Amino acid sequence: MELELNLQPLAIPGIENKRPLVIAGPCSAETEEQVMDTARQLANNGIRIFRAGVWKPRTKPGGFEGKGVEALPWMQRVKAETGMLLATEVATPEHVEAALKAGIDILWIGARTSANPFSVQAIADALKGVDVPVFVKNPVNPDVELWTGALLRINSAGIRRLGAIHRGFSSVDQKLYRNPPMWHLPIELKRRFPSLPVITDPSHMGGRRDLIAPISQQAMDLGFDGLMIESHCNPDCAWSDAKQQVLPEVLDFILDRLVIRDSVEATESINQLRKQIDELDNHLMDVLTKRMRISREIAEYKKLHNMTVVQTTRYSEILDKRAAQGVMCGMSPDFVRDIYEHIHEESVRQQLEIMNK
Ligand code: PEP
Ligand code: MN
Repeated sequence: MELELNLQPLAIPGIENKRPLVIAGPCSAETEEQVMDTARQLANNGIRIFRAGVWKPRTKPGGFEGKGVEALPWMQRVKAETGMLLATEVATPEHVEAALKAGIDILWIGARTSANPFSVQAIADALKGVDVPVFVKNPVNPDVELWTGALLRINSAGIRRLGAIHRGFSSVDQKLYRNPPMWHLPIELKRRFPSLPVITDPSHMGGRRDLIAPISQQAMDLGFDGLMIESHCNPDCAWSDAKQQVLPEVLDFILDRLVIRDSVEATESINQLRKQIDELDNHLMDVLTKRMRISREIAEYKKLHNMTVVQTTRYSEILDKRAAQGVMCGMSPDFVRDIYEHIHEESVRQQLEIMNK
């Protein structure tokens, strides 16, 4: 059974329903001064939703784990003095209860928590009977099913004003990003739930100040609904995530320069181009089908001559040759290698079927 989300528009009081929805503030609430100083500057620049981590899930013990309930009155002061709405991360039923009691307007579930169905269910149970907007960050691992599951659990508790935050995924081969975006995953989430607002967190994705602007622009170009960005009055001295936080004035500069494209109906010329793409895709499928057929013929031969299915030298040769060819055609070698790895995997699956018949 395909599970569905039962959603209502976020309709956050006082927040205009237009792209991008912006949530900004420090990674952590550190001191009352830091919270107030950051909040005042953000509010002066027109930011309407203030984020700060009150409880911080840290990968290793010994880091700053958040001020906890002590920080909640500082958050309340932000609201009283600036009128901004408040957002914070919750990871346990106790956090939910304390945050709601303190008047936090928007809750989010962090990436380490959304990866754990027990924790998500406990939070969902604590949210029963409450009407508050909740955002679910993607789990640390690149798994749309797990992300969907977390959204379904919260939704089943009766939370209809639901959103997702795309913050990138853990990856073994860290290159440019702290958490590579893997855009196809939030795009798949949007495909499954077109009315689910999905916002992008370029701070945790990039892990570096200079990546916030380009990732934010990419998110807008891909049609995502908003941005959650970490901003701190003194980023270099932040107690958590110092490298990725930006001054409120830098955030203002970044937001000011974003080009927001409307997703309007496709025009005739786009439709023409899409027809060409469809034709090429048909062609691709044809070619792939033929390739698989030949690969099955090879399997018959291998079976007859008692040869193993995978011949690694041949496989490496294909990967290297096509990756190099891809580069000459303006494609990334990793992309071409990925494609060939998948094709090879299917080819091996089909060959094994024949060998074992
Ligand atoms: C955060 O938003 O500060 C945070 C801890 O993010 P994530 O759960 O995405 O790591
Ligand atoms: Mn952070």
